[in-house]
Amino acid sequence: MPNTHKLVLERPFQLQNLPTDGKQFHPNRDDAETEFKALRNEFVDLQERLYAEDKQKLLIVFQAMDAGGKDGAIRNVLKGVNPQGVRVQSFKAPSKEDLAHDFLWRIHKVVPARGMIGVFNRSHYEDVLVVRVHNMVPESVWRPRYAQINQFEKLLHDTGTRILKFYLHISAAEQKARFQARLDDPEKHWKFSLEDLEKRKFWPDYMAAYEEMLHECTTEWAPWYVIPANQKWYRNLAVMRTIVHTLREMNPQFPAGVDNLHGVVIE
Ligand code: ATP
Ligand code: MG
Repeated sequence: MPNTHKLVLERPFQLQNLPTDGKQFHPNRDDAETEFKALRNEFVDLQERLYAEDKQKLLIVFQAMDAGGKDGAIRNVLKGVNPQGVRVQSFKAPSKEDLAHDFLWRIHKVVPARGMIGVFNRSHYEDVLVVRVHNMVPESVWRPRYAQINQFEKLLHDTGTRILKFYLHISAAEQKARFQARLDDPEKHWKFSLEDLEKRKFWPDYMAAYEEMLHECTTEWAPWYVIPANQKWYRNLAVMRTIVHTLREMNPQFPAGVDNLHGVVIE
């Protein structure tokens, strides 16, 4: 079994010591892309079964720094999957209505239903990341959220949802290169905002917030995977391996044939 980058808390870890570079885990890009495509075909097949079975649910959470590759990972991984069985949800800054409720309100409304795969582009974790780094609420409000999140994810787990959480880990240098590429290409300007540069100034604070969040919210029922994400081809493969491995374990089955179809003739 290749390294899945599943976070284990046996030893204390520092995010800066976890790899951002995928090349050391895979010698050859072409081979990685071939494996990725084969796994994607299997994913398409497993997703169809999950949908037809209509019993289990899968929730996939993506978190990353700006330009960390959430959009690219989602686009590549979901290519070819039946859109009816998947719901991608992006979480931007909360609305006034969202803020009038508890922080999980807008999240809980859109968790996957039976037979569905839900994909979160950002998530409830923003409420212990951006919110913490920029002091949007006091510590007395955000700190209890680790336990609240764990309980919330336990509820989802106990009611038939498998949860996978991916942190796409890029280096500060890689973020700089990606921002520069966005600046240099007019067709990428829409992906760039000056706010991104403001947030970049807080890189160490974000790393500290991610690190503590990963410590506090790694549970048996909702593991984190810290994916080396400087190379997009390796990031895609590592994410896909974990999703397919999980779906194999879930082992969805087409429903048994309806017996009154036996002997039916279509004239
Ligand atoms: P891209 O990565 O492609 O730029 P994005 O997810 O950054 O996409 P944007 O519209 O650029 O999308 O930014 C959304 C912003 O909303 C992010 O800065 C994120 O931190 C912020 N946000 C998300 N959830 C919350 C939250 N609960 N509280 C405050 N800000 C939030
Ligand atoms: Mg952005």
